[in-house]
Amino acid sequence: MIDITLPDGSVKKFDAGVTPHDVAMSISEGLARNVISASFNGTTVETKTPLTTDGSLILFTWNDKEGKKAFWHSSSHVLAQALQELYPGIKLTIGPAIENGFYYDVDFGDHVVTDKDFKTIEDKVLAIAREKYEFTMRSATKAEALAMYAAEENPYKTELIANLEDGTITFCDHATFTDLCRGGHIPNTGIIKAFKVMSVAGAYWRGDEKNKQLTRVYGISFPKQKDLTEYLELLEEAKRRDHRKLGKELELFAFSQKVGQGLPLWLPKGAALRDRLEQFLKKAQKKAGYEQVVTPHIGQKELYVTSGHYAKYGADSFQPIHTPNEGEEFLLKPMNCPHHCEIYNTKPWSYKDLPKRYAEFGTVYRYEQSGELHGLTRVRGFTQDDAHIFCTPDQLDSEFKKVIDLVLYVFSSLGFDNFSAQVSLRDKENREKYIGSDENWEKAENAIINAAKDKNLTTVVEYGEAAFYGPKLDFMVKDALGRQWQLGTIQVDYNLPERFDLTYKGSDNELHRPVMIHRAPFGSMERFIAILLENTAGNFPLWLMPEQAIILSLSEKYENYAKKVLDLLENHEIRATVDNRNETIGRKIREAEVQKLPFMLIVGEEEEKNGTISVRRHGDAGKSNQTMTIEAFAALVQEEVDKTLKTFQV
Ligand SMILES: [Zn+2]
Ligand SMILES: [Zn+2]
Repeated sequence: MIDITLPDGSVKKFDAGVTPHDVAMSISEGLARNVISASFNGTTVETKTPLTTDGSLILFTWNDKEGKKAFWHSSSHVLAQALQELYPGIKLTIGPAIENGFYYDVDFGDHVVTDKDFKTIEDKVLAIAREKYEFTMRSATKAEALAMYAAEENPYKTELIANLEDGTITFCDHATFTDLCRGGHIPNTGIIKAFKVMSVAGAYWRGDEKNKQLTRVYGISFPKQKDLTEYLELLEEAKRRDHRKLGKELELFAFSQKVGQGLPLWLPKGAALRDRLEQFLKKAQKKAGYEQVVTPHIGQKELYVTSGHYAKYGADSFQPIHTPNEGEEFLLKPMNCPHHCEIYNTKPWSYKDLPKRYAEFGTVYRYEQSGELHGLTRVRGFTQDDAHIFCTPDQLDSEFKKVIDLVLYVFSSLGFDNFSAQVSLRDKENREKYIGSDENWEKAENAIINAAKDKNLTTVVEYGEAAFYGPKLDFMVKDALGRQWQLGTIQVDYNLPERFDLTYKGSDNELHRPVMIHRAPFGSMERFIAILLENTAGNFPLWLMPEQAIILSLSEKYENYAKKVLDLLENHEIRATVDNRNETIGRKIREAEVQKLPFMLIVGEEEEKNGTISVRRHGDAGKSNQTMTIEAFAALVQEEVDKTLKTFQV
């Protein structure tokens, strides 16, 4: 008999040779039907692998990440088989599962696959899947494996096998198809009920452009047709919400090849939006005891040698700028922390002065390869909503809680209700690879864990994920389409205070090292606005909208009344503009709709006579407008603003 430990901690006894499928069956038939993959003692196994020792078993269904991985990995085998049957003589290379689906890199020889072939491939894959072929793993010697692909004249697989150790080589068989594979399959192909070729693209063998260019066939598969339909709808919606598309439509930002790639240009409307976000955070930070500082965009190379950034990232950064005569070397600022350390160092501090909290919307520059750039989410220049807190080790606990409060305030004001946090701690086994005393690490790790618990955060704890200089807490938000984004981060740092020789005088009259906290609730203005755009589809919370209303006059005759309405709205601190153009009201409304302006205020004869406005909401096509006084409208706006934007409480 062997002992199988399940994730809930329960231990069950089975005969040696029991399979994960059998274990699932012993729990319930329904579970056994849904289990598509498993891991035993941390290693992926097949659902029919006999288990012969004691160990921990995790069963995966489609709803688990691991389950999807096995599903898509298995599907890539079916895709490879289909391609080989459709296009005899092609050479297969590798075909891994990816975040959404999988791909297979294929040398198609003279054949060119285009989207016209997708339907044929899809039909073939589904025809194979319907046969419910089982996946079976089999070991082979290196000589056997090499011989097999030599016979097929496949140099790619031969190269892969040449790099493997004899005794570790395994194949997976299903139907008449065999592929080099390490395992982790669903029970049979019949579970694949829906499949789609998403795209084809060129890809160099092993990612090296000196090698032959292959064709990468991207696919995705699902256990139900309905899942595929939903996935495709989600993709369409994501396309509509793509921040690059919305940024253009709403005239928020642009890129210029002349200025340089990865360097966003903020247009007036985008700059106004950014400014509102900055003012919002500055106001809360002021309340939380932060002080604004300003530092230059460049710093001497020595600064980054001191901080350690140069040794670590120097080679992969923008290269130094040289002065013409003095032989000085400057780097574009890749982070604000070293500058802030030097601000701390301008004066001696006592423990009574701490914590010091320096905040800066600091623009930094980081080199990214041109192929990695993407809209506002991967850029070469961006502005962090940065701050560094310098405190005593005993203040860490309360400082951490305060930072979490600020982050949660930011999230709730901007409509991110679905978030979780990851606590990154030291690797329990390798404590020597971290800088700072064991005692201080204990303090910091406990401070993070306690603060997260105290604030009722949903957290996952990851051991070994801490930076070498300190533990951290990262926030993940789920957007309206269920996509996960990493946002704000809070990091403890023992390294920079050491490197910059930061000190304070303690109550014992001795000099001590402060602890440093790096934190950025938005992360960066660029990335945050991109995520905000995709989450709201451009319908920002009313308080954030640079332009909350537009006054549309029915004709030029009502120009004066429109101006009067504008003045009154300004008295109520409502941000509005007037559209007095000699255009039809229909056209004015359509254009305001595209701009996603929350309120359209239509004024004509009736309104002028009664001192009212006719209010139409964005997206309310088909509903009749509401006539009201300016005061009533102002109250409506205020009520809506108050719903999302509360005052920050410290
Ligand atoms: Zn496989
Ligand atoms: Zn920092």
